[in-house]
Order: sequence, then structure tokens, then C-alpha cells
Amino acid sequence: MDPVSPAVVKELISRHGFRIKKSLGQNFLIDGNIIRKIVAAVEPSPADTVVEIGPGLGALTRSLAARAGQVLAVEIDRNLIPVLEETMTGLDNVHIIESDALKTDFDSLVKAERGHTSSPFTGDVVTQYKVAANLPYYITTPLIMHLLEKHSSINRIVVMVQEEVARRIMARPDTPEYGALTLAVNFYAHTEMVFRVPRTVFIPRPEVDSAVVRLDVRDTPAVSVKDKKVFFALVRAGFQQRRKTLLNAVGCIDKRISKEMWLGVFQQADIEPGRRGETLSLGEFARLADAYTNAYLL
Ligand code: SAM
Repeated sequence: MDPVSPAVVKELISRHGFRIKKSLGQNFLIDGNIIRKIVAAVEPSPADTVVEIGPGLGALTRSLAARAGQVLAVEIDRNLIPVLEETMTGLDNVHIIESDALKTDFDSLVKAERGHTSSPFTGDVVTQYKVAANLPYYITTPLIMHLLEKHSSINRIVVMVQEEVARRIMARPDTPEYGALTLAVNFYAHTEMVFRVPRTVFIPRPEVDSAVVRLDVRDTPAVSVKDKKVFFALVRAGFQQRRKTLLNAVGCIDKRISKEMWLGVFQQADIEPGRRGETLSLGEFARLADAYTNAYLL
């Protein structure tokens, strides 16, 4: 049963006595065309494992399963599991897993689920996989960061997010949308805005429009830094109070370092200390992080 049409969605929900939970960001897709476009962005092949986060009633899951070798569908809501078991009938390459995505180690999950699949070209055990999700809005940023920071085997993430979040991911320096999320995501991945999604294609209808973004994970981060923690601490400090100059903003990072000492760091990095964090590129944040690391941590 394909849970894409509004009539099927309503029938499934009522027959299973399912109550939609706003608190879990449950807005179900009812547009086959949008689903086709998401799957096209994922580009699953029979050699691929795709992890789907938040399958809901399974609208996207079925289409992913038609093209991927294996789909691991990770859903937090226990009450959706029997619905998914029904909508996935006949698809033996889908494994439904009840789990909180924020607490799931997907690299280990894929390894355990994939068993001994090996590459037809090299014979090596294949560990890379793709992630697809129509993300519950309440965990968008922490989940994207969880995927990028804690997993080394993901090679592509295709996610539907609120349009405003998509704009933040794609933002250029010195714009209101540019911020810590922009820098963190671009540090790990090549980003692409794939298409916009109107709010009218969901049941229930959310309050804002969405967009699908594709993150192709880089083999190595966009900039090399001596200490990732320092880099991200500087990025966070630079945007915590956007109106502050960087010199005033970085003080909170290390209480032992005086303003004069920071001025030396800025000089070493060749960055004007009167600038605001929102004007710095990834490369400039990296330079500043390394100047500080060289001066005080090595
Ligand atoms: N993929 C479906 C679709 O497109 O119709 C449903 C998308 S709905 C926006 C988000 C889904 O994520 C819901 O099924 C919700 O229960 C699930 N979800 C919410 N929080 C979650 C979490 N922490 N871990 C896993 N799934 C979660």
C-alpha cells in the first residue's frame, strides 16, 4: 500500500487509531512528485544502503527501497511501527528500526545490518552509505550536526528542512543568514539547494515552506585546522553576539588570554580585530584558530 495519497493517509491513520504528534514534527508528505524529486537527489543504486530518518507512514521509504539495495528506516514513534510494517509489506530490503536518531550510531548500525556485503570492484567491505530524511523540525540542527560530526561513513545526506534553515546552510558571509550552522555544515560537506517545497504537500500542513538540500560529505574538511575544537569554539563565539567585534567576542574562549594577547593572535592571522564574526569566511576562521593554537596550545 502506497501511503502517498491524502485518502490513503487518512484511512491508515484512522484504522490504526494513530494520533499525529506535533511534538515529533509529524507532517506527512502526500505528493508523489516531491517524493520522486527527493529520491532523484539521493540517487540510490542497488549497491547502496540508505538510512532514512523518520519514515513516518513510509511515503518516501517505498520509493527509496525501489532503487536502493537496502533501506534502514529509523523511527522514534513506537505507534508508527505497525503502520510501517503494513505499508512496507512485500519489500524485503527495508528494515524498520525503532530508535531516536539523535542517540543512534548510524555507522555501527549500517555495519551490523549490512553484514558481509563487499564491493564488486575491490572486494573490500563497503561501509559508506547515504542518509535521506524529511526532518522533524525540532531536531534539524542537532541532527545534521550529529550526522556530520560523529559519523565517518556517510557520503551523502539529502534532507528536507524548513526553508529558512536551507537558506542558513547556503548563506554567503556578511548576510543575515550566515552563521555557525553555515560554517559547520560547509566545513564537512559540499552543499546544494535542490528545490523548494510548498507547505501544501503535507498532512497536517506546517506553518512554513520547506526546501530540500543535498550535503555531499567531503573526503577531508573544507579547511584544515590544527584543532577542530578551537575552530568551532571561535565560530560559536563569533556568532553568539553578532554585533560584537571579534576581539570582544573571543574573550570568553580562554580567560587566561588578555586582549593584548588576542591582538597578537589576530595580527599573526592577518585579520582585522575590529571585524565582526559574520564577515569572516571559513578560511579566515581557520587561520585565526591556527594562530591561537600555535601561540597558546602547542
Ligand atoms: N518521512 C515521512 C514523510 O515524509 O511523510 C515523515 C516525515 S515527518 C516530518 C518526521 C518523522 O520523524 C515522523 O515520523 C516522526 O515521528 C519522526 N521523528 C521525530 N523525531 C525523531 C527522532 N528523534 N528520531 C527518529 N525519528 C523521529
